[in-house]
Amino acid sequence: MSTYRTHNPSTGQTAAEYDGLADHEIDAVISRVADGFDSWRRRSSAERARILAAIGDAFSDRVDELAAAISEEMGKPTAQAAGEVKLAASIYHWYAEHGPALLEPETLDVSGARENTVTVEPVGPLVGVMPWNYPYYQVARFAAPNLMAGNTVILKHASICAKSSALIERIQREAGLPSDAYVNVYASSDQVAEMIADPRVHGVSLTGSEGAGAAVAEVAGKNLTKSVLELGGSDPLVVLDTDDVGELVDTVGRARLSNSGQACNSPKRMFVPDGIYEEFVAGLTDLYGRIAVGEATDEATEMGPLSSEDARDGVVEQVRTAVEQGAKLRIGGDPIDRPGAYMEPTVLTDITDEMDVYHDEVFGPVAMIYRYTELDEALRVANDTRFGLSGSVWGTDPDEAARVADRIDAGMVYVNEHGTTRAGLPFGGVKASGYGRELGRWGMGEFVNTRLRRVH
Ligand code: NAP
Repeated sequence: MSTYRTHNPSTGQTAAEYDGLADHEIDAVISRVADGFDSWRRRSSAERARILAAIGDAFSDRVDELAAAISEEMGKPTAQAAGEVKLAASIYHWYAEHGPALLEPETLDVSGARENTVTVEPVGPLVGVMPWNYPYYQVARFAAPNLMAGNTVILKHASICAKSSALIERIQREAGLPSDAYVNVYASSDQVAEMIADPRVHGVSLTGSEGAGAAVAEVAGKNLTKSVLELGGSDPLVVLDTDDVGELVDTVGRARLSNSGQACNSPKRMFVPDGIYEEFVAGLTDLYGRIAVGEATDEATEMGPLSSEDARDGVVEQVRTAVEQGAKLRIGGDPIDRPGAYMEPTVLTDITDEMDVYHDEVFGPVAMIYRYTELDEALRVANDTRFGLSGSVWGTDPDEAARVADRIDAGMVYVNEHGTTRAGLPFGGVKASGYGRELGRWGMGEFVNTRLRRVH
């Protein structure tokens, strides 16, 4: 049996320990959601929507309590944590509002038969494996569309999110979701593999690292179980021109530090033209020297700790290796000498393709700035990555910037913003960033049986 241990990364202290799932309990968990599926799928879509709306309401009503739990578990500053809770609420509400229409049968006008009807049916119990960086949002993205469609869910959250994952389950029950429609488990990777391999489970969705994605997809593939993977990213942000370098630096520099840089779709690589490069680098270096780094619950904090000391040490090591390999460190790069998982906001420049950071995801507060003279060359480097999650282009002419954005090889491209998430917009990547889509109508299309009925 594994133990889930939560730490407070703002203080470095262990917060709590939770007993993991015992191996002999796995069968009972799967039976529960399999039995639950039989009744949940038979509820009307209006009834399921009513329960989802109640879950969304509960998230909206309990922002402070929910925000405090993730500030404690993974170090998200209070205001950002509250923003995430509201975003999660908006996702439950979106599916409550739009879900029933998305499940309506469609009649096709195809000759040779009296009727061609396409219905959208749930497929059965699913396993969700979620990461710690947006504990409520990630679960909402997976659970809301699938519960709306009539599927049931076993949810294995990141082990450092034991408290927030239990809170999600409790809120859902209190809002009227049957206890056999969604079960939160403190499971190990081996136990997750056993669940995916079980014939009663009909799909798995994982958000996390490439390694975890590959491990889950391997078991899913062997068992012909469908998978959706939302994995890492090393998003490019391409600057064409600007009227105000200072304002641009402030906007994109702070975006990179949001959630202490631990977002899959954070603008990790910034491409800046020759003409404004020096001013941009000087401005970002100055900004990062002024950022207030502190405890997640301190109102003055602009950037909190990383999620754990291990995670922090990994990012510090990536920066150290980059510098050894010839990158220029403009500011930061070190852990902050105090209890907790703190690191200095960091700026790296002069990166070449011989360095590890050119190729790898840096999941922390590190902005990597690339200088360019030719846009074609900037786009070549921007696309010279195994990732393809999202990217953005910034310029004074949005039409031109949109044309340039279309040349970025990614699942999502933005102009004059980076990484905006809305419940109705698709989310997902290509290449090593994964496959499948979440959110909007696309998120309800992954784990359903699109069934044809043709009547002669
Ligand atoms: P992680 O280590 O892969 O963990 C994610 C989840 O997978 C956790 O619940 C983890 O459980 C579980 N897990 C790990 N190895 C597993 C295995 N072999 N089999 C089954 N489950 C396994 O990732 P992370 O460090 O939490 O998150 C960072 C990564 O996620 C980054 O690469 C980031 O870019 C990516 N991410 C992507 C998106 C997106 O939408 N594309 C969103 C957020 C994050 P334990 O916690 O118990 O180890």
